[in-house]
Amino acid sequence: MKSSPVPSTPNNHRVWAEPWKVKVVEPIRMTTPAERTQALSNAGYNTFLLRSADVYIDLLTDSGTSAMSDWQWAGMMLGDEAYAGSRNFFHLQEAIRQYYGYQYIVPTHQGRGAEHILAKLLIRSGDTVPGNMYFTTTRLHQELAGASFADVIVRAAHDPDSELPFKGNVDLAALEALIARVGARHIPYISLAATVNMAGGQPVSMANARAVHELARQHGIRVMLDATRAVENAYFIQQREAGYENRSVAQILKEFCSYTDGCTMSGKKDALVNIGGWLALNDSELYDEASNLVVVYEGLHTYGGMSGRDMEAMARGIAESVQDEHIRARVGQVEYLGRKLLEAGVPLVRPIGGHAVYLDARAFYPHLDQEQFPAQALAAYLYEDSGVRAMERGIVSAGRDSRTHRNHHPSLELVRLTIPRRVYTQAHMDVTAESVVDVYGQRAAARGLRMVYEPRYLRFFQARFERL
Ligand SMILES: *Cc1c(COP(=O)(O)O)cnc(C)c1O
Repeated sequence: MKSSPVPSTPNNHRVWAEPWKVKVVEPIRMTTPAERTQALSNAGYNTFLLRSADVYIDLLTDSGTSAMSDWQWAGMMLGDEAYAGSRNFFHLQEAIRQYYGYQYIVPTHQGRGAEHILAKLLIRSGDTVPGNMYFTTTRLHQELAGASFADVIVRAAHDPDSELPFKGNVDLAALEALIARVGARHIPYISLAATVNMAGGQPVSMANARAVHELARQHGIRVMLDATRAVENAYFIQQREAGYENRSVAQILKEFCSYTDGCTMSGKKDALVNIGGWLALNDSELYDEASNLVVVYEGLHTYGGMSGRDMEAMARGIAESVQDEHIRARVGQVEYLGRKLLEAGVPLVRPIGGHAVYLDARAFYPHLDQEQFPAQALAAYLYEDSGVRAMERGIVSAGRDSRTHRNHHPSLELVRLTIPRRVYTQAHMDVTAESVVDVYGQRAAARGLRMVYEPRYLRFFQARFERL
């Protein structure tokens, strides 16, 4: 990589603006209410089953939906598509070493590819994996490898109204009690996520990461980071944690990662690419095993599931993602939407998260029982109103207990308005806010849903519903 983005100087007293201008546009189409009602019923009231052509503003996810820069696109033309030892792999390795600080890199097609390998590598049947709230694919791979997941996030994370600045933190007393109960031998690693997606995009403080590291070290347990949105987490540390206000996001990220033994990564989020991920490790023996396993499930250890051009785009995306102006505008846009909704009295998770605004569907629809899928119903009403596509993060996403097969009943029943990076304008946020406010105004008439098809794994992706 010859050139890299200009290092940034934080300038926090002025309003932010995007540190880029638009060069290519993709037209989008507004549908009619009748078209949307039809599309929604065809999709079984599941926004994952809508066709993208029927969506106006797509806030389903920030995963793989970011816009790449001209520098990344230029890198795509420099793809070295050799089967083995592509030069782009070495660029990627260099970028991860430089910005995340880990030594050994196993590329994978996306985050869950890395989660699969990590779980296979470290988990034995009967183990327990503690984590600061579950994530859907992460927990599933832990369970498929024979472990059960134990939530050790601070209690405030389950309360949408708590204003604590670091609601992603691990409850250290709960973690210590868990270690005493099941024994360190049965804890293959602590699964630390930053930021915590299911809690509403809430960050972990540096002090907490350091304390988790210290506690884990005393017991000889590894800490594995879900680094999917660790750059956004680093930005919140810069904004909220004493002693970090004058440090760059890049410096904070590297310190944060230094308290962990490795990470799984979905490059489709922070790293500004449409596909890609990695498993990073510092232990060379573990790396040898991981680089052997990856050839079984993903591809050779110098490409995983990616082409050379994908690896180049991700290497460049990593360098861009840690620039202070980039991350300030990225999180700033999420905050802009969140504040607009708060001003209109719409109930949502506070503080506003790093990648998304999470509507509190329980507060929207107090008349609906959780088994009537209030968040799923809300996402459907929002799409019907304006063509804005969001997603459910509540009882559908939480799935069933792997042993009893009963529904998990998460205390958070949320709809996520997820903002892709560098894609939409402030006007798109205004249109979205208007629609949410209108749907909130019609809340008393809202009806719940009945699940009519339930897939076995990660049901939220493909489940189908009917309106009650
Ligand atoms: C998206 C995501 C993953 C999984 O990554 P994929 O690239 O979608 O496979 C894991 N953890 C978190 C927190 C995520 O948001």
